[in-house]
Amino acid sequence: MGTRPGGKVFLVGAGPGDPGLMTVRAIELIAAADVILYDRLIPESALIGAREDAVLVDVGKTGGGEQVPQDVTTALLIERAQEGRQVVRLKGGDPFVFGRGGEEAQACVAAGVAFEVVPAVTSGIAAPAYAGIPVTQRGITSAVAFVTGHEDPEKPETLIDWPALAAFPGTLCFYMGIRTLKRIAEQLVRGGRPADEPVAVVMRGTYGDQRSIRGTLADIAVVAREAEIRAPAITVVGGVAALHDELAWLEAARPLGGLSVAVTRARAQASGIAATLRGLGATVVEAPAIRIEPLAAELPDLAGYDLVVFTSVNAVEQLFAHVRDARALASMRVAAIGPGTVAELRRRGIAADIVPERSISEAVLEELTRRGPWHRVLIPRAADAREVLPDGLRAQGAEVDVLPLYRTVAEELSGDQRATALAADYLCFTSASSVRFFHEAAGTLEGPRLASIGPATSHAVRALGASPHVEATEHDPDGLVAALVADAAGRRARR
Ligand code: SAH
Repeated sequence: MGTRPGGKVFLVGAGPGDPGLMTVRAIELIAAADVILYDRLIPESALIGAREDAVLVDVGKTGGGEQVPQDVTTALLIERAQEGRQVVRLKGGDPFVFGRGGEEAQACVAAGVAFEVVPAVTSGIAAPAYAGIPVTQRGITSAVAFVTGHEDPEKPETLIDWPALAAFPGTLCFYMGIRTLKRIAEQLVRGGRPADEPVAVVMRGTYGDQRSIRGTLADIAVVAREAEIRAPAITVVGGVAALHDELAWLEAARPLGGLSVAVTRARAQASGIAATLRGLGATVVEAPAIRIEPLAAELPDLAGYDLVVFTSVNAVEQLFAHVRDARALASMRVAAIGPGTVAELRRRGIAADIVPERSISEAVLEELTRRGPWHRVLIPRAADAREVLPDGLRAQGAEVDVLPLYRTVAEELSGDQRATALAADYLCFTSASSVRFFHEAAGTLEGPRLASIGPATSHAVRALGASPHVEATEHDPDGLVAALVADAAGRRARR
Protein backbone atom coordinates (compact mmCIF):
# COMPACT_ATOMS: atom_id res chain seq x y z
CA MET A 1 0.00 0.00 0.00
CA GLY A 2 1.34 3.43 -0.84
CA THR A 3 1.50 6.32 1.59
CA ARG A 4 -1.55 8.55 1.61
CA PRO A 5 -0.79 12.24 1.59
CA GLY A 6 -0.58 13.90 4.99
CA GLY A 7 0.66 10.88 6.91
CA LYS A 8 3.81 11.49 8.87
CA VAL A 9 5.82 10.19 11.79
CA PHE A 10 7.22 12.56 14.41
CA LEU A 11 9.95 11.09 16.60
CA VAL A 12 9.51 13.31 19.63
CA GLY A 13 11.43 13.56 22.89
CA ALA A 14 9.30 14.31 25.97
CA GLY A 15 12.26 15.32 28.14
CA PRO A 16 13.45 13.75 31.36
CA GLY A 17 10.32 14.07 33.54
CA ASP A 18 9.69 17.63 34.70
CA PRO A 19 6.84 18.77 32.42
CA GLY A 20 8.43 22.23 32.30
CA LEU A 21 11.32 20.73 30.36
CA MET A 22 9.23 19.63 27.39
CA THR A 23 9.86 21.59 24.23
CA VAL A 24 7.25 23.90 22.73
CA ARG A 25 7.43 21.81 19.57
CA ALA A 26 6.70 18.59 21.48
CA ILE A 27 3.64 20.16 23.11
CA GLU A 28 2.38 21.47 19.75
CA LEU A 29 2.76 18.09 18.07
CA ILE A 30 1.07 16.22 20.94
CA ALA A 31 -1.87 18.62 20.66
CA ALA A 32 -2.18 18.02 16.91
CA ALA A 33 -1.52 14.26 16.72
CA ASP A 34 -4.03 11.68 15.46
CA VAL A 35 -2.10 8.85 17.08
CA ILE A 36 0.43 8.91 19.91
CA LEU A 37 2.61 5.91 20.67
CA TYR A 38 4.25 6.59 24.00
CA ASP A 39 6.82 5.02 26.28
CA ARG A 40 6.54 4.44 29.98
CA LEU A 41 9.18 7.02 30.91
CA ILE A 42 7.47 10.26 29.89
CA PRO A 43 6.36 13.14 32.14
CA GLU A 44 3.11 12.24 33.88
CA SER A 45 1.27 15.19 32.38
CA ALA A 46 2.72 14.86 28.87
CA LEU A 47 -0.50 13.62 27.27
CA ILE A 48 -2.87 16.11 28.89
CA GLY A 49 -2.87 18.33 25.80
CA ALA A 50 -3.66 15.50 23.38
CA ARG A 51 -6.85 15.76 21.33
CA GLU A 52 -9.83 14.06 22.87
CA ASP A 53 -10.24 11.87 19.79
CA ALA A 54 -6.55 11.03 19.48
CA VAL A 55 -5.62 7.36 19.76
CA LEU A 56 -3.13 6.90 22.60
CA VAL A 57 -1.14 3.69 22.63
CA ASP A 58 1.11 2.72 25.53
CA VAL A 59 3.91 0.80 23.84
CA GLY A 60 5.90 0.69 27.06
CA LYS A 61 3.77 -2.16 28.31
CA THR A 62 1.25 -4.67 27.10
CA GLY A 63 -1.66 -5.96 29.17
CA GLY A 64 0.61 -8.50 30.82
CA GLY A 65 3.12 -5.81 31.78
CA GLU A 66 5.61 -6.85 29.09
CA GLN A 67 7.29 -4.36 26.81
CA VAL A 68 5.70 -4.21 23.35
CA PRO A 69 8.35 -5.69 21.02
CA GLN A 70 10.21 -3.04 19.02
CA ASP A 71 9.18 -4.50 15.63
CA VAL A 72 5.51 -4.31 16.63
CA THR A 73 5.90 -0.66 17.62
CA THR A 74 7.75 0.15 14.44
CA ALA A 75 5.15 -1.61 12.29
CA LEU A 76 2.35 0.28 14.03
CA LEU A 77 4.10 3.62 13.43
CA ILE A 78 4.50 2.93 9.75
CA GLU A 79 0.99 1.57 9.26
CA ARG A 80 -0.73 4.51 10.93
CA ALA A 81 1.32 7.02 8.94
CA GLN A 82 0.52 5.14 5.72
CA GLU A 83 -3.16 5.50 6.54
CA GLY A 84 -2.60 9.26 6.34
CA ARG A 85 -2.33 10.00 10.05
CA GLN A 86 -0.10 12.33 12.03
CA VAL A 87 1.72 9.92 14.31
CA VAL A 88 3.72 11.10 17.31
CA ARG A 89 6.19 8.59 18.67
CA LEU A 90 6.80 10.00 22.15
CA LYS A 91 9.86 8.91 24.08
CA GLY A 92 11.45 9.78 27.39
CA GLY A 93 14.38 12.19 27.18
CA ASP A 94 15.78 12.63 23.70
CA PRO A 95 14.56 10.28 20.96
CA PHE A 96 18.05 9.73 19.52
CA VAL A 97 19.87 9.08 22.81
CA PHE A 98 19.43 5.40 23.75
CA GLY A 99 15.88 5.73 22.53
CA ARG A 100 15.88 3.57 19.39
CA GLY A 101 14.73 6.66 17.51
CA GLY A 102 17.41 6.05 14.89
CA GLU A 103 16.02 2.58 14.15
CA GLU A 104 12.50 3.93 13.81
CA ALA A 105 13.74 6.65 11.45
CA GLN A 106 15.44 3.99 9.33
CA ALA A 107 12.19 2.03 9.19
CA CYS A 108 10.40 5.19 7.98
CA VAL A 109 12.98 5.65 5.24
CA ALA A 110 12.65 2.00 4.21
CA ALA A 111 8.85 2.32 4.02
CA GLY A 112 8.94 5.68 2.26
CA VAL A 113 7.15 7.39 5.16
CA ALA A 114 7.93 11.05 5.86
CA PHE A 115 9.27 11.80 9.33
CA GLU A 116 10.60 14.57 11.54
CA VAL A 117 12.76 14.40 14.65
CA VAL A 118 12.15 16.60 17.69
CA PRO A 119 15.19 16.48 19.96
CA ALA A 120 14.78 17.06 23.68
CA VAL A 121 16.52 17.45 26.97
CA THR A 122 18.22 14.14 27.68
CA SER A 123 18.27 12.68 31.18
CA GLY A 124 22.05 12.26 31.06
CA ILE A 125 22.39 16.05 31.22
CA ALA A 126 19.17 17.03 33.00
CA ALA A 127 19.27 14.60 35.94
CA PRO A 128 22.81 15.68 36.90
CA ALA A 129 21.84 19.35 36.39
CA TYR A 130 18.89 18.97 38.77
CA ALA A 131 21.33 17.46 41.28
CA GLY A 132 23.69 20.43 40.94
CA ILE A 133 26.16 18.63 38.67
CA PRO A 134 27.34 20.34 35.47
CA VAL A 135 28.54 17.58 33.13
CA THR A 136 31.39 19.83 31.98
CA GLN A 137 33.20 22.40 34.09
CA ARG A 138 36.21 24.50 33.21
CA GLY A 139 39.25 23.26 35.11
CA ILE A 140 37.68 19.89 35.91
CA THR A 141 36.59 18.30 32.65
CA SER A 142 36.16 19.38 29.07
CA ALA A 143 34.62 16.24 27.65
CA VAL A 144 31.61 14.11 28.42
CA ALA A 145 30.64 10.66 27.22
CA PHE A 146 27.16 9.11 27.27
CA VAL A 147 27.41 5.41 27.86
CA THR A 148 24.91 2.61 28.16
CA GLY A 149 25.32 0.58 31.30
CA HIS A 150 22.90 -1.97 29.98
CA GLU A 151 25.60 -4.33 28.86
CA ASP A 152 27.22 -6.45 31.49
CA PRO A 153 30.89 -5.39 31.41
CA GLU A 154 31.93 -8.91 32.33
CA LYS A 155 30.16 -10.62 29.45
CA PRO A 156 32.55 -11.39 26.62
CA GLU A 157 30.10 -10.07 24.00
CA THR A 158 30.10 -6.52 25.47
CA LEU A 159 30.42 -3.91 22.75
CA ILE A 160 32.08 -1.43 25.06
CA ASP A 161 35.85 -1.22 25.13
CA TRP A 162 36.16 -0.82 28.90
CA PRO A 163 39.89 -0.05 29.07
CA ALA A 164 39.37 2.68 26.45
CA LEU A 165 36.35 4.03 28.31
CA ALA A 166 38.31 4.10 31.57
CA ALA A 167 40.99 6.11 29.77
CA PHE A 168 38.44 8.64 28.44
CA PRO A 169 39.57 12.08 29.64
CA GLY A 170 36.29 13.39 30.98
CA THR A 171 32.90 12.84 32.60
CA LEU A 172 31.11 9.53 32.04
CA CYS A 173 27.30 9.52 32.18
CA PHE A 174 25.84 6.04 32.37
CA TYR A 175 22.26 5.35 31.37
CA MET A 176 20.56 2.09 32.38
CA GLY A 177 23.44 1.21 34.67
CA ILE A 178 21.95 0.47 38.07
CA ARG A 179 21.91 -3.31 37.99
CA THR A 180 25.45 -3.33 36.60
CA LEU A 181 26.75 -0.48 38.79
CA LYS A 182 29.14 -2.62 40.83
CA ARG A 183 30.79 -4.14 37.75
CA ILE A 184 30.94 -0.79 35.92
CA ALA A 185 32.82 0.75 38.86
CA GLU A 186 35.17 -2.23 39.07
CA GLN A 187 35.94 -2.14 35.35
CA LEU A 188 36.72 1.57 35.47
CA VAL A 189 39.12 1.12 38.41
CA ARG A 190 40.70 -1.88 36.69
CA GLY A 191 41.16 0.34 33.61
CA GLY A 192 43.08 2.90 35.65
CA ARG A 193 40.58 5.41 37.06
CA PRO A 194 41.27 6.25 40.71
CA ALA A 195 39.15 4.33 43.22
CA ASP A 196 38.36 7.59 45.02
CA GLU A 197 37.05 9.31 41.88
CA PRO A 198 33.73 11.05 42.69
CA VAL A 199 30.50 9.39 41.53
CA ALA A 200 26.89 10.53 41.85
CA VAL A 201 23.73 8.61 41.04
CA VAL A 202 20.54 10.54 40.32
CA MET A 203 17.30 8.57 40.46
CA ARG A 204 14.13 9.87 38.79
CA GLY A 205 15.98 13.04 37.88
CA THR A 206 13.82 16.19 37.46
CA TYR A 207 10.71 14.40 38.80
CA GLY A 208 9.16 15.64 42.04
CA ASP A 209 10.63 12.70 43.91
CA GLN A 210 14.17 12.94 42.54
CA ARG A 211 16.83 11.41 44.80
CA SER A 212 20.56 11.54 44.52
CA ILE A 213 23.48 9.88 46.26
CA ARG A 214 27.23 10.54 46.27
CA GLY A 215 30.18 8.26 46.62
CA THR A 216 33.36 7.12 44.90
CA LEU A 217 34.10 4.37 42.42
CA ALA A 218 35.12 2.26 45.41
CA ASP A 219 31.90 2.54 47.40
CA ILE A 220 29.11 3.77 45.08
CA ALA A 221 27.61 0.31 44.52
CA VAL A 222 27.21 -0.20 48.27
CA VAL A 223 25.85 3.33 48.81
CA ALA A 224 23.33 2.83 45.99
CA ARG A 225 22.21 -0.52 47.34
CA GLU A 226 21.74 0.86 50.84
CA ALA A 227 19.80 3.85 49.53
CA GLU A 228 17.65 1.46 47.46
CA ILE A 229 18.41 3.32 44.25
CA ARG A 230 16.53 1.85 41.30
CA ALA A 231 15.97 2.66 37.63
CA PRO A 232 15.55 5.13 36.10
CA ALA A 233 18.82 6.63 37.22
CA ILE A 234 21.88 8.28 35.75
CA THR A 235 25.34 7.58 37.10
CA VAL A 236 27.87 10.39 36.73
CA VAL A 237 31.55 9.49 37.09
CA GLY A 238 34.16 12.24 37.31
CA GLY A 239 35.33 15.24 39.29
CA VAL A 240 32.15 17.17 38.48
CA ALA A 241 30.09 14.69 40.55
CA ALA A 242 31.58 16.27 43.68
CA LEU A 243 30.07 19.63 42.73
CA HIS A 244 26.76 18.15 43.88
CA ASP A 245 27.92 18.73 47.47
CA GLU A 246 28.22 22.45 46.74
CA LEU A 247 25.57 23.11 44.07
CA ALA A 248 22.60 20.89 44.96
CA TRP A 249 19.79 23.42 44.57
CA LEU A 250 16.61 21.45 44.12
CA GLU A 251 15.60 21.02 47.75
CA ALA A 252 15.88 24.73 48.49
CA ALA A 253 13.99 25.69 45.33
CA ARG A 254 11.37 22.95 45.64
CA PRO A 255 10.46 22.68 49.32
CA LEU A 256 7.42 20.54 48.42
CA GLY A 257 9.39 18.24 46.11
CA GLY A 258 8.19 14.64 46.26
CA LEU A 259 4.96 15.53 48.06
CA SER A 260 1.49 15.26 46.63
CA VAL A 261 -1.09 17.83 47.60
CA ALA A 262 -4.82 17.50 46.96
CA VAL A 263 -6.67 20.76 46.33
CA THR A 264 -10.39 20.76 47.04
CA ARG A 265 -11.28 24.21 45.70
CA ALA A 266 -13.75 24.83 42.94
CA ARG A 267 -12.09 24.12 39.59
CA ALA A 268 -11.96 27.74 38.44
CA GLN A 269 -10.16 28.80 41.60
CA ALA A 270 -7.91 25.81 42.05
CA SER A 271 -5.60 26.73 39.20
CA GLY A 272 -3.87 29.62 40.99
CA ILE A 273 -3.02 27.67 44.10
CA ALA A 274 -2.21 24.60 42.01
CA ALA A 275 0.34 26.53 39.95
CA THR A 276 1.98 27.89 43.10
CA LEU A 277 2.18 24.40 44.61
CA ARG A 278 3.64 22.93 41.41
CA GLY A 279 6.25 25.68 41.30
CA LEU A 280 7.35 24.53 44.74
CA GLY A 281 7.73 20.96 43.52
CA ALA A 282 4.47 19.40 44.70
CA THR A 283 2.45 16.98 42.63
CA VAL A 284 -1.01 18.52 42.64
CA VAL A 285 -4.14 16.38 42.75
CA GLU A 286 -7.25 18.34 41.87
CA ALA A 287 -10.29 17.17 43.80
CA PRO A 288 -12.92 19.85 43.19
CA ALA A 289 -15.66 18.72 45.56
CA ILE A 290 -17.24 22.14 45.32
CA ARG A 291 -18.68 24.34 42.61
CA ILE A 292 -19.90 27.94 42.61
CA GLU A 293 -23.49 28.33 41.44
CA PRO A 294 -24.70 31.89 40.77
CA LEU A 295 -28.13 32.75 42.17
CA ALA A 296 -30.73 34.91 40.51
CA ALA A 297 -30.53 38.27 42.27
CA GLU A 298 -32.12 41.68 42.04
CA LEU A 299 -29.58 44.39 42.80
CA PRO A 300 -30.76 47.24 45.06
CA ASP A 301 -29.94 50.86 44.23
CA LEU A 302 -26.27 50.98 45.16
CA ALA A 303 -26.10 54.75 45.58
CA GLY A 304 -27.73 54.52 49.00
CA TYR A 305 -24.92 52.55 50.73
CA ASP A 306 -21.92 54.00 52.47
CA LEU A 307 -20.08 50.67 52.79
CA VAL A 308 -19.76 47.43 50.81
CA VAL A 309 -17.98 44.44 52.34
CA PHE A 310 -16.48 41.65 50.24
CA THR A 311 -15.66 38.51 52.17
CA SER A 312 -14.53 36.41 49.22
CA VAL A 313 -13.15 36.56 45.71
CA ASN A 314 -16.37 34.90 44.55
CA ALA A 315 -18.45 37.73 45.98
CA VAL A 316 -16.47 40.24 43.92
CA GLU A 317 -16.83 38.13 40.78
CA GLN A 318 -20.54 37.60 41.26
CA LEU A 319 -21.34 41.23 42.06
CA PHE A 320 -19.50 42.33 38.95
CA ALA A 321 -21.68 40.00 36.90
CA HIS A 322 -24.52 42.38 37.82
CA VAL A 323 -22.97 45.84 37.46
CA ARG A 324 -21.66 47.66 34.41
CA ASP A 325 -18.30 48.71 35.83
CA ALA A 326 -16.44 49.97 38.89
CA ARG A 327 -18.37 53.26 38.96
CA ALA A 328 -21.34 51.38 40.43
CA LEU A 329 -19.43 51.37 43.74
CA ALA A 330 -18.32 54.99 43.51
CA SER A 331 -20.39 56.30 46.41
CA MET A 332 -19.21 53.85 49.07
CA ARG A 333 -16.18 52.70 51.00
CA VAL A 334 -14.99 49.25 50.06
CA ALA A 335 -13.87 46.66 52.61
CA ALA A 336 -12.13 43.41 51.61
CA ILE A 337 -11.41 40.43 53.84
CA GLY A 338 -7.91 39.66 52.60
CA PRO A 339 -5.24 39.79 49.90
CA GLY A 340 -7.03 37.55 47.38
CA THR A 341 -10.14 39.69 47.52
CA VAL A 342 -8.06 42.88 47.38
CA ALA A 343 -6.34 41.60 44.24
CA GLU A 344 -9.65 40.65 42.61
CA LEU A 345 -10.98 44.16 43.30
CA ARG A 346 -7.84 45.76 41.93
CA ARG A 347 -8.24 43.77 38.71
CA ARG A 348 -11.59 45.52 38.37
CA GLY A 349 -10.18 48.98 39.01
CA ILE A 350 -11.05 49.29 42.69
CA ALA A 351 -8.61 49.92 45.54
CA ALA A 352 -9.98 48.50 48.79
CA ASP A 353 -10.26 51.11 51.56
CA ILE A 354 -10.42 48.77 54.52
CA VAL A 355 -8.54 45.49 54.91
CA PRO A 356 -8.15 43.81 58.30
CA GLU A 357 -4.85 42.28 59.39
CA ARG A 358 -6.28 38.80 59.71
CA SER A 359 -8.50 37.45 56.94
CA ILE A 360 -11.44 36.28 59.05
CA SER A 361 -14.92 37.72 59.56
CA GLU A 362 -14.23 38.59 63.21
CA ALA A 363 -11.25 40.71 62.20
CA VAL A 364 -13.28 42.45 59.48
CA LEU A 365 -15.91 43.32 62.08
CA GLU A 366 -13.29 44.64 64.49
CA GLU A 367 -11.69 46.83 61.86
CA LEU A 368 -15.07 48.13 60.66
CA THR A 369 -16.06 48.91 64.24
CA ARG A 370 -12.88 50.93 64.63
CA ARG A 371 -13.52 52.82 61.37
CA GLY A 372 -17.32 53.29 61.81
CA PRO A 373 -20.01 54.25 62.43
CA TRP A 374 -21.71 52.94 59.28
CA HIS A 375 -25.24 53.72 58.20
CA ARG A 376 -26.16 51.46 55.31
CA VAL A 377 -24.01 48.43 54.58
CA LEU A 378 -24.17 46.05 51.64
CA ILE A 379 -22.74 42.53 51.98
CA PRO A 380 -22.81 40.61 48.69
CA ARG A 381 -21.86 37.01 49.50
CA ALA A 382 -22.66 33.30 49.49
CA ALA A 383 -26.12 32.21 50.56
CA ASP A 384 -24.67 29.90 53.17
CA ALA A 385 -22.14 32.23 54.84
CA ARG A 386 -21.74 32.94 58.56
CA GLU A 387 -23.71 35.74 60.26
CA VAL A 388 -20.87 37.17 62.36
CA LEU A 389 -20.50 40.27 60.23
CA PRO A 390 -24.13 41.29 59.57
CA ASP A 391 -25.13 40.58 63.18
CA GLY A 392 -22.18 42.53 64.56
CA LEU A 393 -22.80 45.56 62.36
CA ARG A 394 -26.51 45.55 63.12
CA ALA A 395 -25.71 45.48 66.83
CA GLN A 396 -23.90 48.76 66.26
CA GLY A 397 -26.98 50.30 64.70
CA ALA A 398 -26.11 49.90 61.02
CA GLU A 399 -28.74 48.95 58.49
CA VAL A 400 -27.30 45.86 56.80
CA ASP A 401 -28.46 44.30 53.54
CA VAL A 402 -27.15 40.84 52.88
CA LEU A 403 -27.24 40.04 49.17
CA PRO A 404 -26.91 36.30 48.47
CA LEU A 405 -25.33 36.09 45.01
CA TYR A 406 -24.14 32.52 44.84
CA ARG A 407 -24.20 29.14 46.46
CA THR A 408 -21.45 26.63 46.86
CA VAL A 409 -22.71 23.24 45.83
CA ALA A 410 -21.23 19.77 46.04
CA GLU A 411 -19.46 18.41 42.99
CA GLU A 412 -19.14 14.67 42.66
CA LEU A 413 -15.69 13.16 42.61
CA SER A 414 -14.83 10.21 40.40
CA GLY A 415 -13.59 7.09 42.17
CA ASP A 416 -10.15 7.89 40.83
CA GLN A 417 -10.15 11.48 42.09
CA ARG A 418 -11.31 10.31 45.48
CA ALA A 419 -8.64 7.61 45.74
CA THR A 420 -5.76 9.85 44.65
CA ALA A 421 -6.89 12.67 46.93
CA LEU A 422 -7.04 10.34 49.93
CA ALA A 423 -3.62 8.92 49.08
CA ALA A 424 -2.04 12.40 48.87
CA ASP A 425 0.42 13.64 51.48
CA TYR A 426 -1.69 16.73 52.12
CA LEU A 427 -5.34 17.58 51.65
CA CYS A 428 -5.94 21.36 51.57
CA PHE A 429 -9.14 23.10 52.50
CA THR A 430 -9.75 26.74 51.68
CA SER A 431 -13.24 27.02 53.13
CA ALA A 432 -15.62 25.33 55.53
CA SER A 433 -17.83 24.30 52.62
CA SER A 434 -14.93 22.63 50.84
CA VAL A 435 -14.42 20.52 53.98
CA ARG A 436 -18.07 19.49 54.18
CA PHE A 437 -18.43 18.76 50.49
CA PHE A 438 -15.19 16.84 50.24
CA HIS A 439 -16.20 14.76 53.23
CA GLU A 440 -19.56 14.12 51.62
CA ALA A 441 -17.96 13.07 48.33
CA ALA A 442 -15.12 11.03 49.80
CA GLY A 443 -16.81 9.62 52.89
CA THR A 444 -13.78 10.33 55.06
CA LEU A 445 -10.99 12.80 55.80
CA GLU A 446 -8.61 10.06 56.82
CA GLY A 447 -5.24 9.48 55.19
CA PRO A 448 -3.53 12.73 54.23
CA ARG A 449 -2.36 15.49 56.57
CA LEU A 450 -5.16 18.04 56.66
CA ALA A 451 -4.30 21.65 55.95
CA SER A 452 -6.77 24.41 56.70
CA ILE A 453 -6.77 28.03 55.61
CA GLY A 454 -8.06 29.38 58.93
CA PRO A 455 -10.19 28.98 62.06
CA ALA A 456 -13.61 28.67 60.38
CA THR A 457 -12.29 25.97 58.06
CA SER A 458 -10.55 24.19 60.95
CA HIS A 459 -13.81 24.29 62.88
CA ALA A 460 -15.55 22.51 60.00
CA VAL A 461 -12.82 19.84 60.05
CA ARG A 462 -13.28 19.31 63.80
CA ALA A 463 -17.04 19.16 63.43
CA LEU A 464 -16.47 16.03 61.33
CA GLY A 465 -14.39 14.42 64.04
CA ALA A 466 -10.99 15.03 62.46
CA SER A 467 -8.36 17.58 63.37
CA PRO A 468 -6.32 19.78 61.07
CA HIS A 469 -2.57 19.11 61.13
CA VAL A 470 -1.76 22.49 59.60
CA GLU A 471 -3.56 25.82 59.97
CA ALA A 472 -2.45 28.88 58.02
CA THR A 473 -1.59 32.01 59.98
CA GLU A 474 -2.34 34.18 56.95
CA HIS A 475 -5.82 33.15 55.89
CA ASP A 476 -5.44 33.25 52.13
CA PRO A 477 -4.11 30.81 49.52
CA ASP A 478 -0.52 32.09 49.80
CA GLY A 479 -0.75 31.76 53.57
CA LEU A 480 -1.96 28.19 53.20
CA VAL A 481 0.93 27.35 50.88
CA ALA A 482 3.40 28.95 53.31
CA ALA A 483 1.98 26.83 56.14
CA LEU A 484 2.34 23.66 54.03
CA VAL A 485 5.96 24.51 53.24
CA ALA A 486 6.71 25.07 56.93
CA ASP A 487 5.03 21.79 57.90
CA ALA A 488 6.87 19.84 55.19
CA ALA A 489 10.22 21.34 56.25
CA GLY A 490 9.57 20.49 59.88
CA ARG A 491 8.75 16.89 59.00
CA ARG A 492 11.80 16.50 56.78
CA ALA A 493 14.02 17.89 59.55
CA ARG A 494 12.62 15.36 62.00
CA ARG A 495 13.24 12.43 59.68
N1 SAH B 1 16.09 8.69 25.56
C1 SAH B 1 16.30 8.77 26.99
C2 SAH B 1 17.05 7.60 27.54
C3 SAH B 1 16.32 6.29 27.41
S1 SAH B 1 17.18 4.94 28.10
C4 SAH B 1 16.99 10.10 27.32
O1 SAH B 1 17.46 10.79 26.41
O2 SAH B 1 17.04 10.45 28.50
C5 SAH B 1 16.46 4.83 29.70
C6 SAH B 1 17.45 5.30 30.73
O3 SAH B 1 17.46 6.72 30.75
C7 SAH B 1 17.10 4.92 32.14
O4 SAH B 1 17.52 3.60 32.45
C8 SAH B 1 17.89 5.93 32.92
O5 SAH B 1 19.25 5.59 32.98
C9 SAH B 1 17.75 7.14 32.04
N2 SAH B 1 16.67 8.03 32.49
C10 SAH B 1 15.55 8.36 31.84
N3 SAH B 1 14.81 9.25 32.53
C11 SAH B 1 15.51 9.49 33.66
C12 SAH B 1 15.31 10.33 34.78
N4 SAH B 1 14.24 11.10 34.88
N5 SAH B 1 16.26 10.33 35.75
C13 SAH B 1 17.35 9.57 35.66
N6 SAH B 1 17.58 8.74 34.63
C14 SAH B 1 16.68 8.72 33.64
